[in-house]
Amino acid sequence: MESTIGDSAILAPETSLDPTDWQDFQSLCESELSALISHLSGATDRVAWRAVPEDVKRSLAEPLPMEPQGPRQACESIRKNILPWTLGNTHPRFFGWVHGSGTPGGMLAEMYAAAINANLGGREHAPVYVERTVIDWCRQIFSFPDSASGLLLSGTSMANLVALAVARQHHAPIDIREEGVAALPQPMIAYTSAEAHCSVAKAMETLGLGRRNLRRIATNQNLQIDLDSLRQTIKTDRARGLLPFCVIGSAGTVNSAAIDDLAALANLCEQEQLWFHVDGAFGALAMLSEIEQPKLRGIERADSLAFDFHKWMHVPYDAGCLLVRDGEKHRQAFNTQANYLAEGLAASAGAPWYCEFGPELSRGFRALKVWFTIKEHGLRRLGRKIGDNCRQARYLAQQIESSPSLELLAPVQLNIVCFRYKPPGFPTSQLDRLNIELVAAIQSSGVAVPSSTRINERVAVRVNLTNHRTRKEDLLEFLNAALRLGPSVAERVLASDSGAPM
Ligand SMILES: *Cc1c(COP(=O)(O)O)cnc(C)c1O
Repeated sequence: MESTIGDSAILAPETSLDPTDWQDFQSLCESELSALISHLSGATDRVAWRAVPEDVKRSLAEPLPMEPQGPRQACESIRKNILPWTLGNTHPRFFGWVHGSGTPGGMLAEMYAAAINANLGGREHAPVYVERTVIDWCRQIFSFPDSASGLLLSGTSMANLVALAVARQHHAPIDIREEGVAALPQPMIAYTSAEAHCSVAKAMETLGLGRRNLRRIATNQNLQIDLDSLRQTIKTDRARGLLPFCVIGSAGTVNSAAIDDLAALANLCEQEQLWFHVDGAFGALAMLSEIEQPKLRGIERADSLAFDFHKWMHVPYDAGCLLVRDGEKHRQAFNTQANYLAEGLAASAGAPWYCEFGPELSRGFRALKVWFTIKEHGLRRLGRKIGDNCRQARYLAQQIESSPSLELLAPVQLNIVCFRYKPPGFPTSQLDRLNIELVAAIQSSGVAVPSSTRINERVAVRVNLTNHRTRKEDLLEFLNAALRLGPSVAERVLASDSGAPM
């Protein structure tokens, strides 16, 4: 007997993973959507943070589900075990680390992105053109040339890594992609300030260049990279036969939002023929505020620039960006010749593909939420919110300076305020402990979430303002909580110091 195309005898009943009852799925979605909107509109009414209870952790560690629980039960688990115990970065008094606060519009864009389920590795589809547009907008924001390339990534850590890979490829005296770092005749050296973000060192490690080959240059009293030390260190390294290749400037350090003298770094890199990368994770977007923008002079001369949309543009996590001035150099660091990825006709058109500009092949539709946020609010309003945060930081610093038991620990350059609680007469040796415990006490009170860091070896309470929901009253409420909780924390620290029970 002849077999024919269309013989289906061997196929079992074919059910997809789609709902069997779309109407029922729709009504579930409608009620879940109202729960989500209440969650968003109630951001201000909740506590800023509270600990995840042990029974919730146990519920979340459930056994591997082998049989369907259905979407209703999954949603119930979210509402019961996840929604009430989030970090609180959507709250107006969340000031910890550098977190974005998100927007309701961002949620809507995320829902569309999930429905479209696009893979932005490449090929011919509208989502690719949305990412192209977002990158083109970024080029305009930072006055990069038309020949610049860009790539959306999970965040600035990844963007720093990809940027250093491009710099390494361009400056290596050998074909580094073919031969690997073991074939380098001498170590390649990068330079950044002692205040630079840890992701820069991680990038050096991951690229096989070695953390010891990242020079961490001392900073001046404004916590900016010291240019004389930088110049001297490069000279010494060259004299030792090493191969300087890259300077990483910070446009907003994570500790204190210090901005290196980017124009001076651009000059120096030009003279020394070094790659000039800027880590502008949050600070680069101060470009959108007319008042703050002059502090970033020189950023437009970077060879590459990394920054985040999920911090100061409030795009939902995660979304970062890398711009590379010379798009061809960018591509040379990641292009491939795989047959199954050949760019071609019809659905295979759309060159150049994004997978030729970074390590990832499959990539989500991050661009949609960025595109949506910029369209929804417009650049001017987003910039005004950035300016507001900087004004709030200066206001908070004034309040701190007028309080006899608070001490400002770093100059306020943008949106971060570092200070400590220092009640008169309190032993200096115990101030670090006092402030670590005070930060924990404020967080645990649910009033606000600052974080801590060290500035010039002293523990600081750190307030980062990348929050479009924060108002002046929130800052005052936070300060009042610090001053209210301070004395009892101080008593406890002193008591435990003298050996008495806490
Ligand atoms: C947050 C931050 C990073 C890392 O960015 P992610 O988006 O968290 O990966 C790098 N540098 C600076 C200055 C940052 O503030």
